[in-house]
Amino acid sequence: MIIVVKKDCEKKQLDNLTKWIKSLGLRIDLSKGDNSIIMGLIGDTSKVDIDLIRSLDIVDTVKRIQQPYKLANRQFHPEDTIVDVCGHKFGGNNFQLIAGPCSVENEKQIIGIAQAVKASGANILRGGAFKPRTSPYAFQGLKGEGLKLLLKAKAETGMPICTELMAEKYIDMFEDVDIIQIGARNMQNFDLLKAVGKLKKPVLLKRGLANTIEEWLMSAEYIMSEGNDQVILCERGIRTFEPMTRNTLDLSAIPLLRELTHLPIIVDPSHATGLNRLVDPMSLASVGAGADGLIIEVHNDPTHALCDGAQSLRPEQFDALVKKIDVMLPLVNRERK
Ligand code: PEP
Ligand code: MN
Repeated sequence: MIIVVKKDCEKKQLDNLTKWIKSLGLRIDLSKGDNSIIMGLIGDTSKVDIDLIRSLDIVDTVKRIQQPYKLANRQFHPEDTIVDVCGHKFGGNNFQLIAGPCSVENEKQIIGIAQAVKASGANILRGGAFKPRTSPYAFQGLKGEGLKLLLKAKAETGMPICTELMAEKYIDMFEDVDIIQIGARNMQNFDLLKAVGKLKKPVLLKRGLANTIEEWLMSAEYIMSEGNDQVILCERGIRTFEPMTRNTLDLSAIPLLRELTHLPIIVDPSHATGLNRLVDPMSLASVGAGADGLIIEVHNDPTHALCDGAQSLRPEQFDALVKKIDVMLPLVNRERK
């Protein structure tokens, strides 16, 4: 961290700042220029409150040199993390497809869709049992019954399952779930992040609706700092001023994250766009941007879906999309296994 101190500051103020920084266990490299004094802080500055320093009268500017996330940072862990979900790997040169309905609705629906997406090449089944809905009057998911149906679909097809955990109180019900999804609305539910950090289970961490890449990585850090390094990041679009799509897919986040972190990164083009006709092009664009996989909503009867029918692909559309993805994968040095 670098602090630029105003040249005209009083010696006493500078001494106080120096003393305080040293009391935090940091060393200081001081250089006096013509117009300012530059303090280079040496040591672990992750616990230093940058805003507090910025608020001091004698401080002109402050800049972090090191990122505040240590465990998720590629600097300290150059090789890609591989997250293994029942033998299906995320990260490295692997490419994974997670597919299924927005919500589990009934046995026939979830098993039928699972069989269809598996036949097309998806390795992991998605489906919400607990649904975070904007309206309390909208379908909230089948909850425990939905989890049971997902497990039935898993038994029937052999596909691992990915489903959203909305609150810590349900965690015991998720024992047989293979990937725990933390949804966009819970990305900064720090108690929930700490709770899944204590599990030995892959976590799919979706980006918050209005969160920066750094905030997202700090949320991954919450999970990792509790001992769980099996984190997969999922870009699912962010809120912008554009109303024509449900969200705006931030594809530049993928190559940027690739530099910043060793964690696998996948894309959800369904929630990012909200429109099924945009899922195809945005999936292919995600592959091109270097994503490690996709999570796509697929429904056998989108017009009657209890949730997110407008953005769901029909099974045959998903099948056609996978064929296009397969043409692109060799170009980005990825393999779907
Ligand atoms: C979902 O995947 O079902 C979901 C609700 O997504 P998000 O949290 O990204 O809105
Ligand atoms: Mn959905």
